[in-house]
Amino acid sequence: MPVELDKKDLAKYPFLKEAQHLVSASGYSIDSLINKKHFIVKKGAERVEKAIKFDYFFDDIRLEMAEWEILSYAFARILISCLNERNLTDRLCRYEAERASYFLQTEDPEKKDYVTSIVGINPGIEEIPVVEYVGLCPALHDSKWRLINRDINSGLVRIEKNEYDELIKEKIRSMLDDQLPLRVGEGICSLLSSLTEGISSGYQEMLMEQFGEVDEGSFPPCMKAIINAVTDGTNIPHTARFSLTAFMHIIGMDVHQIVGIYTRAPDFDVEKTMYQVEHISGRGGTEYTPPACATMKTYGLCVNRDSYCKKISHPLSYYKIKKKMMKGDEAPVPSTKKDIPDKVDEKNP
Ligand code: SF4
Repeated sequence: MPVELDKKDLAKYPFLKEAQHLVSASGYSIDSLINKKHFIVKKGAERVEKAIKFDYFFDDIRLEMAEWEILSYAFARILISCLNERNLTDRLCRYEAERASYFLQTEDPEKKDYVTSIVGINPGIEEIPVVEYVGLCPALHDSKWRLINRDINSGLVRIEKNEYDELIKEKIRSMLDDQLPLRVGEGICSLLSSLTEGISSGYQEMLMEQFGEVDEGSFPPCMKAIINAVTDGTNIPHTARFSLTAFMHIIGMDVHQIVGIYTRAPDFDVEKTMYQVEHISGRGGTEYTPPACATMKTYGLCVNRDSYCKKISHPLSYYKIKKKMMKGDEAPVPSTKKDIPDKVDEKNP
């Protein structure tokens, strides 16, 4: 029997065709929403801003507002296409993949199988042909994904059960990345220019802020623990080195500042460290992000949790909240309420 997805399911996975059909049937048009400066367009911009800031907090999403969720996804893609900047597009795809992965983790098994098969991974798969595997894994950083470290038999690469979710997330990210940028007319981009300019300047400000004010005291306990291990000369696993490096890069530390942390190690090797840090920081074209808390747990790196950890699902969110608190600003307490819905529509950007 075919799997039936309800509206809430479609709000979780707005990239599905069914989601696009839902908003098409609801009778709104992209043009009229833009012309009316409808708040759903602004919600699309907020989605991009969250993606840019790695604000991976999904608990407050109101799935019952399915059309609004799906349309904000559509507008986020339109806005990012007007901006047409590689880094920003990459961040939106990562955000959407994290978001879908967050919901898939607690999804009904039949629905999860359906979504994963739509994105091109066979449910419960245990082996992938080498050619397919090679295409899937270049953006996966961990050394365990390197072909040389895989169990290969008769042209098939073995996949462990606990690797399945990470593969699905990567498949969603690369699928969305392949679709962007969309071909959006100049007229539409021009109507959206106040939003795209706001996103662009917000991004620049964020970079400047982060560069100016790295605050090691606000690092999450997991990252502090890795730094302590480095300082003590412990031979840390690749996953720990990757997580810490990507974390420091994303909060705005430059390569020299990051390498500076590793110089605390008694067996510090400058060339090897520079190479690894530059690679993770995006010299090869891909900018890596640190893993979410759920992945940190599976790596055995989620340690010394404190009260801030209860509010967040990503080490970057921890840093953001704690840094604000340390500066004396009010901490952004996640809300469970969202904007008021209405009605919307249109096709499937
Ligand atoms: S909950 Fe997240 S931020 Fe806190 S220690 Fe664990 S991985 Fe780090």
